[in-house]
Amino acid sequence: MLKVYNTLGKKKQEFKPLHGKKVGMYVCGPTVYGPGHIGHARTYIAFDIIRRYFEFSGFEVKYVVNLTDIHDDMIKRAKEQRITIFELADKNIALFFKDLDALGIKKADVYPRVTEHIEEIVEFVKALEEKGFAYATDDGVYYDISKFKDYGKLSGIKVKEQKTGTRVETDKYEKDKVQDFALWKKQKQPDEPAWDSPWGKGRPGWHIECSVMSSKHLGEQLDIHGGAVDLIFPHHENEIAQSEARSGKKPFVKYWLHSGFLNVEGQKMSKSLGNFIEIPDLLEKHDARAFRFFVSGLHYKSRIDFSEKAMEKVDRTLEKWDLFVERLMDIRGEKENPEAKTLVDSTRKEVVAAMDDDFMLPNAWAALQKMQTAVNKQIDSGKFGEGNAKQVLDLLKELNQFLGVFKFEKEEQELSKGQQELINQRETLRREKKWSESDKIREELAKQGILIDDTTDGTKWRKA
Ligand SMILES: [Zn+2]
Repeated sequence: MLKVYNTLGKKKQEFKPLHGKKVGMYVCGPTVYGPGHIGHARTYIAFDIIRRYFEFSGFEVKYVVNLTDIHDDMIKRAKEQRITIFELADKNIALFFKDLDALGIKKADVYPRVTEHIEEIVEFVKALEEKGFAYATDDGVYYDISKFKDYGKLSGIKVKEQKTGTRVETDKYEKDKVQDFALWKKQKQPDEPAWDSPWGKGRPGWHIECSVMSSKHLGEQLDIHGGAVDLIFPHHENEIAQSEARSGKKPFVKYWLHSGFLNVEGQKMSKSLGNFIEIPDLLEKHDARAFRFFVSGLHYKSRIDFSEKAMEKVDRTLEKWDLFVERLMDIRGEKENPEAKTLVDSTRKEVVAAMDDDFMLPNAWAALQKMQTAVNKQIDSGKFGEGNAKQVLDLLKELNQFLGVFKFEKEEQELSKGQQELINQRETLRREKKWSESDKIREELAKQGILIDDTTDGTKWRKA
């Protein structure tokens, strides 16, 4: 039974989606004013593993990650670079996708952009106003948090005691201030991007986009909503207030999952400390797969202490896994060791049990590590045959569906010695124009699953 820790209610619960095996999953995406930092990379890898584990477990996931392409920071940065917010967004979205790809993150099903949902946002805000949850002022439309009696249920904030009586107009939110927030902001400068609305030209606030785009792409109630832990308040609290007020349906989200912080060299990452690492910087210095391996070794809620020393250790451990996989792929021989299957089965069971327990990756890796040691011992004592090696490799390939860290390329890229010799022989025969003999070799290779193409650059081969 799969259990997840739900921030709403603060306990582990059995995971049961609202509609059978279908899972609607939404994770707050980036504001695309610049490259993401490694804290973002951690969040997206953590939720990638969770999403893929749902799929591994037989669920059908629809995964949505929003792209915030209108925001105070977008406007500021576009102005600095003398380009439009759209040009700025396009540039950084392309970079974001490239980073995700490098980090082995599977594409979401939808990446909705805020500027493509303005009409729906206006409709949503209108509905909140009609229902009495929002009020218009000179500078925009605000959500009245005192009208939503469940306000605070996710974060534990007490509105009556903590409400400041102020409003927040910008897209910067103070973590300790409980206040009404902007749903729609009127245009202040003529050069600010703005759209028509019943309240005059303006643009949406930050929180409203997630309520609007999640309901459009996943319906009014979601199974999973994820994000980094610092989004619990006020962003996710405000999403609940907007969505439940609008739909009248509870809960907006069945399971709230939050990933932990990432520190750099023991300190909170910040531009002022000079320890701010953007994803492209990380990828220049480190293997993307190693960073993913680092993240996959820790529980998604735990804090990650990123440091050069920690990465060195990760590199060494990953190298051991690579050597282990290569070793398994090189094993030949008919020997049958009945213990191998038992070991593979019990390891699989342990990994699944760990993952079913709120994605407890450290326990999953402990089981895998134990198997690696045991298998290496058996290979050392000559007890392992090709069939046994295949059993272990098949398990790693299966688990790689969600771990995404093992590399099996050698198998796909390399020929056996015999096959290479056949190709060389065939090339000699072709030079000597011995076509029928060369065709025989082609047939023989095809039988072994190797296809030959004769090109102007010489003979090329590929796996069937
Ligand atoms: Zn969001």
